[in-house]
Amino acid sequence: MATGKINVSVENIFPLIKKFLYSDHEIFLRELISNATDATLKLKHLTSIGEAKVEYGDPIIEVKIDKDNKQLRIIDQGIGMTEEEVKKYINEVAFSGAEEFLDKYKDAEKDAGIIGHFGLGFYSSFMVADKVEIYTKSYQDAPAVRWVCDGSPEFELEATEKTDRGTEIVLHIAEDSVEFLEDSRIRELLGKYNKFMPIPIKFGTKTETLPKPEDAKEEDPAPTKEVDDIINNPTPAWTKKPTDLKEEDYGAFYRELYPMQFEEPLFNIHLNVDYPFNLTGILYFPKLTQDLNIQKDRIQLYQNQVFITDNVEGIVPEFLTMLRGVIDSPDIPLNVSRSYLQADGAVKKIATYITKKVADKLNSIFKNNREDFESKWNDIKVVIEYGMLSEDKFFEKAEKFALYPTVDGQFFTYEELEKKIKDHQTDKDDKMVILYASDKEAQHSYIEAAKAKGYEVLLLDSPIVPHLMQKLETSKEKVSFARVDADHVDNLIKKEDTTISKMSDDEKDKLKGEIENVLGEKGYTIQMEAMDSQAQPFIITEPEFIRRMKEMQQTGGGGMFGMGNMPDMFNLIVNTNHDLVNEILNTKTAKKRERLINQSLDLARLSKGLLKGEELTQFISRSYEMIK
Ligand code: ADP
Repeated sequence: MATGKINVSVENIFPLIKKFLYSDHEIFLRELISNATDATLKLKHLTSIGEAKVEYGDPIIEVKIDKDNKQLRIIDQGIGMTEEEVKKYINEVAFSGAEEFLDKYKDAEKDAGIIGHFGLGFYSSFMVADKVEIYTKSYQDAPAVRWVCDGSPEFELEATEKTDRGTEIVLHIAEDSVEFLEDSRIRELLGKYNKFMPIPIKFGTKTETLPKPEDAKEEDPAPTKEVDDIINNPTPAWTKKPTDLKEEDYGAFYRELYPMQFEEPLFNIHLNVDYPFNLTGILYFPKLTQDLNIQKDRIQLYQNQVFITDNVEGIVPEFLTMLRGVIDSPDIPLNVSRSYLQADGAVKKIATYITKKVADKLNSIFKNNREDFESKWNDIKVVIEYGMLSEDKFFEKAEKFALYPTVDGQFFTYEELEKKIKDHQTDKDDKMVILYASDKEAQHSYIEAAKAKGYEVLLLDSPIVPHLMQKLETSKEKVSFARVDADHVDNLIKKEDTTISKMSDDEKDKLKGEIENVLGEKGYTIQMEAMDSQAQPFIITEPEFIRRMKEMQQTGGGGMFGMGNMPDMFNLIVNTNHDLVNEILNTKTAKKRERLINQSLDLARLSKGLLKGEELTQFISRSYEMIK
């Protein structure tokens, strides 16, 4: 037997590493299975090029728990190691890798977010084991060796009896890590990190029911057989070519990824690039609800089919973190902090590529099957609108497929909408006016009034849409958005004025003064307007600018600081052509006039949804009195 001392500068670096990665001890299993996978894939390569003159066969990796002896074993049938290789790769490479890791990151505890996902390799086994043994036999004709180390820089190396090719790692699980001797814990980890690794992984056996033989009797139980329990799918959908996959394969893979998710995804995007970086994956658009935060962080990041993390912040553009699926790229540096990651050139390119792919896919669905796209618009609009707001590149592309639905369920692109309305929906400054509603029920009377005049009214109801309108108004020339209740349509949209006023200017002034007297400090700005319509005598409106600023404050618009709490500001438009308004003017008794004004105001407030609580109760009992 040979013993030796590993050449490391720090006497005992294991406890330090253990402490450093305190929350991530579980990654040891991922690391050891990755090594086993690499060793197997190397053998596959060597046999395929004729370098290794052995049978590759159907190798598997096995994970075994021996609870009595407190051992966890990881067994592979890969290339194995000769004595020389153990000295080199384990004593030198693995140890120096660990030392380097520690050197670089011992001060970075606070930023361990992604560093924790960075593999420590073989060395990480000492986070859970107080002794590690390696039994290994190389594919080359060399004697098998046993290596053992207790975490100190001293090791033993000797010849051993092992006849089959490959490596067996024996972890003597430490007292503080006995959780890793539990079946359920190991199964959980295998499911988390190894579900899609490329070599079959066996963990125990399971009972399989076989078909009954022809001559079996009805009451005979079906025969069963013990088979290897393979916990992974070595060829997940994202590793296949898009041309080899059908729509239902994508659906099946979605269910494999999210077994608890019953809702079907709306559509998928297969990512596949090998230059200038490597990236594969499948992204899914799920049905989204209004609450954006709870749906984030469902995309899983893999490196060569090894699960790394499901926090892809910094790698995937923010607006796409609402999607689901898998990204697999060996080119994402994980041994860096988040802030560094976001500034990294390669990562930026990846984010740009993903954004572009998503935009292209949306565009092609829009072009090839507009009807389908329209039917899904409500479920995907938040992502698209958010993307248009946050990524200029996406904004440019989304211009082609972003939809603007009308209150009647028609869908226009911006260009189509412009064509349709720009000739007859402009304001005094010749700006195109896009009328919209945010709530079909609450703004019903205003919508009807605008439609009666032949205007197009959009339904824009996502919470971030005020921000998007702001962006469109600044990036496009001569367009402004106005909610149907922002002002009277005749003030919003320029029209030839053919209305004949029933009241003289003097009468208007007189009535205005009287209304002001009655309303006093209620805070309305009164506008006297002669209108054709007899629909409403009083109309309450809320200026677009003020209301939108308030909404943007609520949804957290950047750069909105210092605006304070903005006051409510309403206009009261008095239709001086309305019969009731003329009646108010001609009413002699002040008391009766006041009652008419107050009742009309309350009806206008009711129509705007402003009459609530005690005032509403009073209004109702007053109305009953009147009809008695
Ligand atoms: P890395 O895998 O990042 O190179 P590790 O510390 O995990 O670092 O392993 C060091 C080296 O030990 C590997 O590069 C490999 O050559 C060798 N090795 C580790 N595990 C195995 C194994 N199961 N079979 C064969 N060689 C192995």
